[in-house]
This record gives sequence, structure tokens and C-alpha cells, in this order.
Amino acid sequence: MELLKNRIIKDGTEIGSEIVKVDSFLNHQLDIGLFKALAKEFYCRFGHLGINKILTIEASGIAVATITSMYFDLAPVVFAKKTLPNTMNDEYYTADIKSFTKGTVSTAVVAKKFLSADDKVLIVDDFLAHGQAAKGLASMVEEAGGTVCGIATVIEKEFQGGGKMLREMGYNVSSLAIIEKIEDGQIYFKN
Ligand code: 5GP
Repeated sequence: MELLKNRIIKDGTEIGSEIVKVDSFLNHQLDIGLFKALAKEFYCRFGHLGINKILTIEASGIAVATITSMYFDLAPVVFAKKTLPNTMNDEYYTADIKSFTKGTVSTAVVAKKFLSADDKVLIVDDFLAHGQAAKGLASMVEEAGGTVCGIATVIEKEFQGGGKMLREMGYNVSSLAIIEKIEDGQIYFKN
């Protein structure tokens, strides 16, 4: 998606050869006009699949998932929590998710009442890196008997292998900008 690639080139910064910082429009300050365009594009790619629920993970997936819902007939947005809150006395699905950016493993949690066998789910996230977050979310949908109709990510870092792994697992993965590599302070996109 050219609009997004141009924005990453203009306002994104790379940290070393692994991390992209896009906090002026995607991760800290949010450009809602851009989010609308991203969400519309997700609809073009996944809108024909009968999706009735959107699943993401806190925190930075929530905003993009929420605007995406506007294009999917206001499908409910469920976000996995990264820690078990004191108020959560329901039964829940869990998935251990390793974060390569933070070097930690956290247990993502979704209350069982928010995922069911009738759900046709679009998984949405801001970044796809090693694929651990998306894989964990998909496992919870499947444990509930639901269907993962697609995995929609804003920025995929192809060189970290998560997209390849998820596609090989049979998931319908689509990313709006795919970064092939980051080298000598420059971001290279896949055409
Ligand atoms: P994965 O589970 O695919 O390895 O990583 C995806 C998660 O890690 C995303 O939810 C995102 O929050 C975070 N992440 C991975 N790479 C980056 C990055 O380059 N920049 C930012 N801001 N977040 C990232």
C-alpha cells in the first residue's frame, strides 16, 4: 500500500536492523485518517469472508482493530490481555507469547465468553515480526472452535520470518507494507 510505505519512509525511524519506530502515526500518536485508509484496505482484502469478530492484542493492536471494525459492519473487537487482571474471574483461553522486542514471554488471555465456535475471526495487529502474537491469538480462536479467516497486519517485517511461518501453517496472511530488510539505516520494501 503506497500511502503507508510513503508514510513509513517519511516518518518512521529504524532502530538498528530489526525494529521500526512509527510512534508518530501508529504506535503512540495515532493518525486516524491513515487508520481509516488502512482499515478500508483490510476490508478490500478480507471483506468477502463473512467475518463477524475481530481479535487483537493489547495495546497497539486495539486502535487499528477498532477502526477496522467500522468497515466490517461493526464486528465486535476482542483484545487479548497480556496479564490476567484481578477482575477476571471468568474462564479464559491462554497462549504464551514470546516477545523478541522485549525478550520476555507473556501469557495472553481472552475470556471464554468472548470467543465461540460461531466466530469467523479476523486477527489484526500493527506489526508482524516473528509471528508469535498472531500464532497465539489463532490458537485461542481454534481452541474455541472458531475459524481464523485471516491475519491482517499493518507492517510485516519479512526478514523475521513470522509471515512465512503463518502462511506455511495455512493462514491467510496479508500485510499492508512488507519490509524485506533494514540495512545501513534504510528500509527496503517488498514490491
Ligand atoms: P511477533 O509476535 O510477530 O514477533 O511481534 C508482533 C508484536 O511485537 C506486535 O504486536 C508489535 O506490538 C511488536 N513489534 C514487533 N516488531 C515491532 C517493531 O519493529 N516496532 C514496533 N513498534 N513494534 C513491534
